[in-house]
Amino acid sequence: MAAGTELHAYGELTASCTRCRLAQGRTQVVFGSGDPNAELMFVGEAPGFHEDKQGAPFVGQAGKLLERLLEGIGLDRSHVYICNVLKCRPPGNRDPQPDEIEACEPHLFRQIELIEPRVVASLGNFATKLLSGRPLGITRVHGQEQEVTLGARRVLLYPIYHPAAALYTPAMLKVLESDFARIPALLNGVADATPPPAPAFVPAPAAPASAEAAEPVGQLGLF
Ligand code: URA
Repeated sequence: MAAGTELHAYGELTASCTRCRLAQGRTQVVFGSGDPNAELMFVGEAPGFHEDKQGAPFVGQAGKLLERLLEGIGLDRSHVYICNVLKCRPPGNRDPQPDEIEACEPHLFRQIELIEPRVVASLGNFATKLLSGRPLGITRVHGQEQEVTLGARRVLLYPIYHPAAALYTPAMLKVLESDFARIPALLNGVADATPPPAPAFVPAPAAPASAEAAEPVGQLGLF
C-alpha cells in the first residue's frame, strides 16, 4: 500500500480510539494533516479548542505563526506533515497527563513509520521530552538536532520552541526564527556540526491569561 493510503487508513482507525479518558470529552480525534510523504514533520502538544472543532492541527493563532515561520524558509503546510503528541483535546487545554501520552504514543510512532520523515521538529517541552526520551527541557535543547529512533525509523530530531510560546514574546520569536533558519540545511544533510548561537531568550513577565484561551499554554517551552 502507498504511504498516503496506509496513513489515511490508520487515521480512520484512530478516529474511534478509546485508549484514554480524552475520548469522552473530544469533539473528534485530530490525527494530523499535510504531505503523507513529507521529509519534515512537526509534532506539537495537543489539539486546542479550534483544532478539536475543526479536526485539524494548528489552525489557531499558533498555527498562523507556524505558517509564517514556514513561509520564512520557503515552505507551506502542504510541504510538511503536522500533528501532535496527543490526538485529542485535554479538557480546558490542561497539560497532557503521563498516562495519556503513553496511551497515544503508538499513534505518533506509527505516523512517523508511515511518513518516513528525515527531520522531526518537536515543538515545545512535551513533544521534545517524549521523542528525545530525556527529561531535558526545551530551553536547554532547542536548536540542537540529534539522531533518534522513533518507532522503526531513524530520524533527526530537532527540538524548537512551541510557536504558542512566542505569540506574546518577541525575544522568543527571534530564537524560533533563528532555529527555523537551520531547517533547510538539516533537510539537505548539510547542517554545521556546531550551529551558530541562537539569540538569547530573556524570559519576560507572563502575558495576560486571556490572550488566547483556545491555545494550550501548559509547558509550551518556557522551562
Ligand atoms: N494547536 C495544536 O494543534 N497543537 C498545539 O500544540 C497547539 C495548538
